Amino acid sequence: MKIPFLNLLDANIPYMQEIEEAVMRVLRSGRYVGGEETERFEQMLAKTTGTEYAVGVSNGLDALRLIFKAYIELGQLRPGDEVIVPANTYIASILAVMDAGLTPVFAEPHPATMNLDTTRLGEYLTERTRAILAVHLYGRPCYDQTMADFARRHDLLIVEDNAQAIGAKAPISGINGSSNTGALGHAAAFSFYPTKNIGAMGDAGAVTTDDCEVAAAVRALANYGSDRRYHNIYIGGNCRLDPIQAAILSVKLPHLAEESARRQKIARIYRDNISVPQVILPDNPTEGSHVWHQFVIRTVHRDHLRQLLAEEGIGTDIHYAVPPHRQPALSKYVALHLPITDSIADTAISLPIGSSLTDTEAAHVASIINRKLLTIVN
Ligand SMILES: *Cc1c(COP(=O)(O)O)cnc(C)c1O
Repeated sequence: MKIPFLNLLDANIPYMQEIEEAVMRVLRSGRYVGGEETERFEQMLAKTTGTEYAVGVSNGLDALRLIFKAYIELGQLRPGDEVIVPANTYIASILAVMDAGLTPVFAEPHPATMNLDTTRLGEYLTERTRAILAVHLYGRPCYDQTMADFARRHDLLIVEDNAQAIGAKAPISGINGSSNTGALGHAAAFSFYPTKNIGAMGDAGAVTTDDCEVAAAVRALANYGSDRRYHNIYIGGNCRLDPIQAAILSVKLPHLAEESARRQKIARIYRDNISVPQVILPDNPTEGSHVWHQFVIRTVHRDHLRQLLAEEGIGTDIHYAVPPHRQPALSKYVALHLPITDSIADTAISLPIGSSLTDTEAAHVASIINRKLLTIVN
């Protein structure tokens, strides 16, 4: 049985006919930037997330960048302000903070959740701390009462990086009363990169917020800084959501609950069937919900196990093999002492998970892991 880490074509097959119709509708509309398709998707995303506003943008990185730039334009953040970011994340989270002229402060994850350890936030607080970038990594909401209390006590903005957790629910409701990721903090960034839980067929992203000023600033910054035609109030860019992608996403977004349920089922199969002591299974929150963008197990035999699985035709990946602070581009942060982040990078393996994976395939992956690890002597 050959099981690729992810097959994007298979994941899109159930939607293909509707997607073809949606794309043709855009091609025949004569409107190729902005317009009805984009607006319809924005309304659908705001409704699904439970926020007042959603602004479609070019990708997840731009969504994050534009949020931080909007806060700077609105005077709520100043260049040089510090943003607490998890050290265990995709580099985009860090790049967005830096691109806006803000200073990332790398925070260690909790070893069990692999997400921000909210009990340690105080270690990173200085008089320049103004925001937390809450990255719901692997689809697991990282917002909790401890983070909410900390942010309120120190008057910090909470920006969500919801690239991996669309459809997840936090254990508590956020500042506007909803527990949906994307509606927990002051503003949230979404990515619809093709591999994400709801993936476009190209790059796409969005910003959600209940703050009309933030929504308007993000929209203007994404459109040359223009608040109305030929009137530019900011030094903006071109970071708009393409209507073809919006039309494709409008086909897929109504199926978010089924997509999440499918991933939750696969995660349950892995959790119920992987039973070797050498594997640490990912923590499964009992309150709220995890949407399993990645199913990340940990083992000290990581590289050996990956190779044995590859020999059995099972694809795996590592999220992330080199953490941001060890990337050449971020060499000024290489001396940071982040042992938990480093240990995750050395021991994590992401197993195949996606809506096209069958129950039988997931059970097969679990049994091969058990069998192979029993042959590895500690
Ligand atoms: C994918 C991702 C991004 C960036 O999204 P793009 O659409 O690829 O720009 C940002 N943060 C996290 C955590 C991601 O997984």
